[in-house]
Amino acid sequence: MKTVYIGLGGNIANEHGTPKAHLQNAVSAFQESAHFKNVAVSSFYSSKAYGVTDQPDFINAVLKADTDLAPIELLDFCQSLENHAGRVRLRHWGERCLDVDVLLYGDKNIENERLTVPHKELTLRNFVVIPMLELDHDLAVNGQPLKELVAASDWGGLELL
Ligand code: ATP
Ligand code: MG
Ligand code: MG
Repeated sequence: MKTVYIGLGGNIANEHGTPKAHLQNAVSAFQESAHFKNVAVSSFYSSKAYGVTDQPDFINAVLKADTDLAPIELLDFCQSLENHAGRVRLRHWGERCLDVDVLLYGDKNIENERLTVPHKELTLRNFVVIPMLELDHDLAVNGQPLKELVAASDWGGLELL
C-alpha cells in the first residue's frame, strides 16, 4: 500500500452537475472503491483561475488515501473519474468540470510519458499546498517541508468554502 495525494479541481457546471457536485462525486468514488483505504479529504476551497485567468473561479480540494494501485492504474482511475464527469478538454489550463491529478505517490519520483510525480507544479500552487497541509501539517516533498512554502497570512486569493 502507498499513501497518495490527489488534487481535485473544477470550475464549470455541465449536465452532470455543478463543480462542487463533480468534486463530491469524485470523493465518493474513492471512498467506494476497494482499492482505497483511509480516505481523508481536505476542506473545499475556492481559488482564482491559475495560468489562464479569463475563466470562472475554481473549487479545489485534496484527497489523501492508501492504495494498492500501481501509479499508472491510479492515473487511469483519476482519468476515468474525469471522463465520467463529462470532461471536455477545451484549452490548456482552461475551464473544466473536473480535474483529478496525482500529486504524490508515496515518496516515489516518477517521470514517464503519462505521469510526472510529484506533480510538476505542486509547490507553486497554493490551492494544492494549503489543502495538503490541512491533511498533514508535516508533509514534505523531496525533503522540503510544505509548510515552509506558505506564510500563514498569505493565501493568495484562496478562500475556504
Ligand atoms: P496540470 O497538469 O498543469 O495541472 P491539467 O491538470 O489541466 O494541467 P490535464 O489536461 O488534466 O492537465 O492532463 C494532461 C496530461 O497530464 C494527462 O494526459 C496526463 O497523462 C498528464 N500527467 C502527467 N503527470 C500527471 C499527474 N501527476 N497527474 C495527472 N496527470 C498527469
Ligand atoms: Mg491539473
Ligand atoms: Mg489534470
